Amino acid sequence: MFDVIIVGLGCAGYTAAVYTARYKLKTLLVGAEEGGMGLTAAEVGNWPGIIDIKGPDLMENFKKHALSFGDIVTYEVVKIEKIEKISGGFRLTYQNGKTAEGKTIIFATGSEKRHLGIAGEVEFSGKGVTYCATCDAFFYRNKTVAVIGGGDSAVEGAAIAAQVAKTVYLVHRRSEFRAEPYWVDRVKARPNVVFVLERTPLEVLGKEKVTGLKLSAPFNGSDTLTLDGVFIEIGSNPSVKLPLELGCALDERGFLKVDDTMRTNVPGVYGAGDVTSASNHFAQFTTAAGEATVAANSVFTYLATK
Ligand code: NAP
Repeated sequence: MFDVIIVGLGCAGYTAAVYTARYKLKTLLVGAEEGGMGLTAAEVGNWPGIIDIKGPDLMENFKKHALSFGDIVTYEVVKIEKIEKISGGFRLTYQNGKTAEGKTIIFATGSEKRHLGIAGEVEFSGKGVTYCATCDAFFYRNKTVAVIGGGDSAVEGAAIAAQVAKTVYLVHRRSEFRAEPYWVDRVKARPNVVFVLERTPLEVLGKEKVTGLKLSAPFNGSDTLTLDGVFIEIGSNPSVKLPLELGCALDERGFLKVDDTMRTNVPGVYGAGDVTSASNHFAQFTTAAGEATVAANSVFTYLATK
């Protein structure tokens, strides 16, 4: 039996594993996909100590660091349950039927991109509709694309897409952006970014692939943008399926509820990173790493006092 099983292979999971391993806790780090949301960051300029690094490179560094302490298992966890016989024990079942048992759990399961829910979105998903501008912009060299949203993901995505695309329409439902001013200044400096504000997308248009986007109000005399691609960047929902299976409580916004020791309402279960209610829902590498550090320390203290 492991002392701690950390579920999630993003910044929070890797950081928690480094700390639990240094506490000499028998640690299992498990998740379906390596890298998490960090892989989608084209440029990271706010990880202290490194002025500029690509998200995938930073994640690779995190992974190497975690691997220097133990194994990482890339299996999807499909079920988690309490082991009634062992007070505070948990059993995970992977998609391949194998199981693992742990005395404690840290959920670092991150989040999943939100969908708009408009006509054509599902039909053209993968045929011009994608949910990661920074990952997919490369495929739209000299093309015309729209990025939807007004947060960091959308504005950063528009800035990155503008480096390769001919024209980038940044479509946002308000006139103000919630993104970091750094990224807003970056897009404003790009002559090929066109701001389409106070409009919402109504329908993705296309034949075999995307050809355009219908808007809630005309822009430059037309209610349709002619496009090759649509990048939907309207935020993410926390991945709480597994915590819910254990009876973990959520906050009013649907995030895994944790206290300031990163403890959930279920004894022996902790959370860290984008899935949690912590850090005022401010999803950054730095906040994820900080929460994971606290979660690992809390697990260490919990096991030491049991
Ligand atoms: P977000 O901050 O929640 O922003 C989502 C954006 O999409 C908002 O502008 C929102 O509009 C808009 N939106 C939401 N639902 C919509 C709908 N149905 N139709 C049209 N527009 C819709 O999400 P995010 O940008 O993905 O960022 C999530 C977290 O990750 C944040 O904490 C962010 O700081 C962090 N992040 C950081 C970086 C970075 O540091 N470089 C990069 C990416 C993400 P309103 O503004 O009107 O609500």
